[in-house]
Amino acid sequence: MVVKVEEQMVVMVRYGELFLKSEPVKRHFIGLLIRNIKRSLDAEGLSFRHETPRGRILIYGDHPRKIAAEVARVFGVVDVSVATITNNTPEEIGRVAKTLGQKHLKAGMRFAVRAKREKGSGGPDSQELGRVIGGVLLDAQPGAVVDLTHPEYEVFIEARGNGGFIYDHRIPAPGGLPFGTQGNAIGLISAGIDSPVASWMMMKRGCGMVHLNMDAGRWAGCATAAGAVENHRKLSLWVKGYPLRMLVVDSSPLYDAMSRGIPQRYICVICKRFMFRVAAELMPGEHAEVIVTGENLGQVASQTLSNLAVISSAVSAPVIRPLVTYDKGEIVTIARRIGTFNQKPGDLCCRAVPAMPSTGANLAEVIAAEEKIDFDLLIEQALERIKVITAMNGEITVHEKPECLSTPPCEM
Ligand code: ATP
Ligand code: MG
Repeated sequence: MVVKVEEQMVVMVRYGELFLKSEPVKRHFIGLLIRNIKRSLDAEGLSFRHETPRGRILIYGDHPRKIAAEVARVFGVVDVSVATITNNTPEEIGRVAKTLGQKHLKAGMRFAVRAKREKGSGGPDSQELGRVIGGVLLDAQPGAVVDLTHPEYEVFIEARGNGGFIYDHRIPAPGGLPFGTQGNAIGLISAGIDSPVASWMMMKRGCGMVHLNMDAGRWAGCATAAGAVENHRKLSLWVKGYPLRMLVVDSSPLYDAMSRGIPQRYICVICKRFMFRVAAELMPGEHAEVIVTGENLGQVASQTLSNLAVISSAVSAPVIRPLVTYDKGEIVTIARRIGTFNQKPGDLCCRAVPAMPSTGANLAEVIAAEEKIDFDLLIEQALERIKVITAMNGEITVHEKPECLSTPPCEM
């Protein structure tokens, strides 16, 4: 069946895991994915229209390359290509492929054609189509060599019911699930490298995030507060069109209290238990179901298995630590890729860290130390003074008023 299609550029979007869902769930998730794509393109002022043939989203607009770059940052998208769409006949597809070959193939260059024909769209089968278009490319550059295993250049062909698609580049996207499909979490975020990566990983799996940051004031290095806001801001660039909120709690009274009369080796563990308790208190108002941290196994003294258990026992809420098994190098690689890595972060030093932090905290002793500093009252007071920082499309707004606290993180 030949379909007449006006030759033009189209952005072809592939999504992955959604295929595994049942038909109604898949439809629902694709709807949310399109909504998120729309939000990110609207945020950039890019007008478009879209179609959803089987297994793909096709986006038409005046700036296909800009559209493709934006869509390649939308969670749930696996990869994106700027394709030429034409009639689905081997002749028409070959004509477009030939111009690509003339432009990109050189003598001696290894190339492959990856062809797919959608069932029922007529014409030669995938293998035959690949062979025909391979021949066209060899005509365009007779010195080139077919190599299906280690090609230097690939041309992708899709003969579908709604047209023939030809492209030679796939822009990798994050994959995962559409943002907003998996409920909400509170993510403990710092100025460091790990926590923004942990938060990004949860957003990638479809979670709405509310960030929570502890501002330790004079106990923290002078770049710490701004570094946390910067991490939060950069993460908002991954969910364009959505306001991402960060709650900032003044934790300096805790450090003042801990500096007097408790076993100093427990400071780090109690600090983390404080963060968890504050997070747990905020969860209902934030419609959050879990706490997320960038904690890792063995990276610092507070992160031994036994300390992680003592920290978790401060709350009954579930705690997710997406990075627990990652090496620091692996985390840095992801941080660079997602844009949160900062080569020169400035002074992030914590002045409260003792010389010899405990690596095997005793829960009973920790609880006794907390009672000594009136831990519950410190938590109560911290909750009374919360600043909200909203990041949207990389722009920051600060709200000093706590009414903003009850706003859901994003409309699902
Ligand atoms: P990161 O782990 O993000 O690089 P870090 O190394 O400064 O930051 P750690 O001591 O490793 O912090 O803390 C482990 C986790 O505790 C962090 O990943 C983060 O989730 C949380 N956390 C640490 N400091 C803060 C803070 N000031 N506010 C909120 N959460 C924090
Ligand atoms: Mg860390």
